Amino acid sequence: VSFEVEGLVVGGVDYGDADRVVRLLTEEGRLSAFAHGAKKSRRRFAGALDPFTSIRATLAPSKKQDGMATMTSAVVIDARLPIRSDLKKIALASYVVELGAKVAPEGQATDGVYHLVLSVLDAFARDEASATIAARRAFELALIDALGYRPDLDRCHACQEVAETPHLDLVHGGVLCAEHRGRAKEIGPKTMAWMRAVLARRGAFEPLGGLDAASADRAARALTGAAGEFFANLIGRPLKSAALLEDVLA
Ligand SMILES: [Zn+2]
Repeated sequence: VSFEVEGLVVGGVDYGDADRVVRLLTEEGRLSAFAHGAKKSRRRFAGALDPFTSIRATLAPSKKQDGMATMTSAVVIDARLPIRSDLKKIALASYVVELGAKVAPEGQATDGVYHLVLSVLDAFARDEASATIAARRAFELALIDALGYRPDLDRCHACQEVAETPHLDLVHGGVLCAEHRGRAKEIGPKTMAWMRAVLARRGAFEPLGGLDAASADRAARALTGAAGEFFANLIGRPLKSAALLEDVLA
């Protein structure tokens, strides 16, 4: 019995001359489906398998247990075309979907991650946000929150005292005081305020955090080490999309 699913195209690989395996992120988790004739049948899949596109797909379950479902048809809900005319947005959107799909737990509800990824792509497509350092770090912070690792920005996680000079350690859940800082970097008040504003939006994407674009970028740059360490710890090797992102968003 075939069923319908709504999801975001997060990638795919060609299979043979005509077919494609499509990867989707949905509210219920990650999903791969086999699209027969995807490279030839423009009618059946017109534009529906392109990255950053939200689709409604009809899937037929595999006859084998644990086999891959077959996508029999798909319609575009939102193609988010404006992203594709801006190289920085392409680079950051590619990173957002790759990282979101990578960290979304397999076979489990991933609605927090899914809706966060959609809100970033929608903000880019509607020109409500630019692809900036602040946008990258705001997405990462909101993602850390969505995954259940919301950082405590007030108390040192080693001694539980209020950290007067906070040092950021996202791997261990927040800030460290001067005494327990270890290798963590001190974070200034502007960055702390920006992080609080970003996290206050709970799951919604808010890259500026009440600042102008240049100030938000300056504030967000201070997160480079701590955010890099968090995701290196979580996913291991670097993402394919990270190299292009580092090139265009230095
Ligand atoms: Zn401490």
